[in-house]
Amino acid sequence: MSSRDDVVAKTIRPEVRALKAYPVTPPWPGIKLELMEDAHLDAGPSTAAMRREIAERVAESAFNRYPDPSAPALKSKLREKLGIAAQHDILIGTGSDEIITMLSQAILAGGGTVVSLEPSFAVFKNAALAVAGRYVGVPLRADFTLDLDATLAAITREQPRLIWVVCPNNPTGNQYPDDAVEQIIRAAPGLVIIDEAYEPFAQRSWMSRIDEFPNVLIMRTLSKIGLAGVRLGYIFGAPAWISEINKVRGPFNVGVLQQVGAEVLLDHYDELKHHAALMIQERERLQVELAKLPGVTPFPSLANFVLARFPDAGAVFDALKAHGILVRNLSAMHPLMANTLRISIGTAEQMDKLIAALKVICV
Ligand code: PMP
Repeated sequence: MSSRDDVVAKTIRPEVRALKAYPVTPPWPGIKLELMEDAHLDAGPSTAAMRREIAERVAESAFNRYPDPSAPALKSKLREKLGIAAQHDILIGTGSDEIITMLSQAILAGGGTVVSLEPSFAVFKNAALAVAGRYVGVPLRADFTLDLDATLAAITREQPRLIWVVCPNNPTGNQYPDDAVEQIIRAAPGLVIIDEAYEPFAQRSWMSRIDEFPNVLIMRTLSKIGLAGVRLGYIFGAPAWISEINKVRGPFNVGVLQQVGAEVLLDHYDELKHHAALMIQERERLQVELAKLPGVTPFPSLANFVLARFPDAGAVFDALKAHGILVRNLSAMHPLMANTLRISIGTAEQMDKLIAALKVICV
């Protein structure tokens, strides 16, 4: 009988054994500015009504029954609150993470090629490699602007079935110019997904333009506007695309509690939008304050975080932790990311504390 390690090695596909699991830090008791959540919903009177309503709706829900995967109530609220057009179909997932997995299964499994700009959301690569897809990363320029020539050359060379374009991009925060994205869409032989996870903070969307193209869908998430714990992502566009992706979806992928939680919070969408407006203000203030610190370079951001380069990012990360503040150190993520920290935008009070700590640390 072989040892367990041998059986694991013989059984699990080599592509999967070569992967690294997505790094998630354990719960943080202090100020958490790590994963672009809505800190305004942590506590306080403004959230009390939402909490009560969620509890009441959960108490009424048929949690002993499988959920209705077509989620009509939730989808009609998404249409109403987010302005999704009647001619577009919507597919929901347990976070947009799950939708990335579905797209990878439907398009890349067994060797299909995907192109992503780099650095970007790490899950694109993992999801492709997990289904034995071919992942091609096209580096951004050193200042994180789009290298359109290199991107178009990669599209011509690789003929990818799928291209990810994140607008605004994570972890860099910038928005690519519309005309460059349009050239990518027109050059693409397959599907282009515009990932608008951070659209509420950019207030610019490709939504009104996707019918101009036969090959574009928009993917979004409710995680950044307050529902990271509920796990609800969605993708929308022409039914011809959505109906194919729908075939690889687990039959009951979004549970009753997720559907109910998302419905209630969408009823409070105006308040969530107000939080987004506050975060935009705080983002602008943080940019200004970071630029005043010696040796620190913040990059332009239209998202709910700011990426900044520090003379010694590791030392600043540790010192912020000692002040009770957790940010994300992305220095090792990609060669272009050396000495960078990504700081999520929190409440004004949290940002006061962050800025005060940075003034002590970065002297
Ligand atoms: N796309 C981008 C660009 C992201 O940054 C994230 C989360 N960090 C996601 C998708 C996934 O979000 P979720 O699974 O929470 O919907």
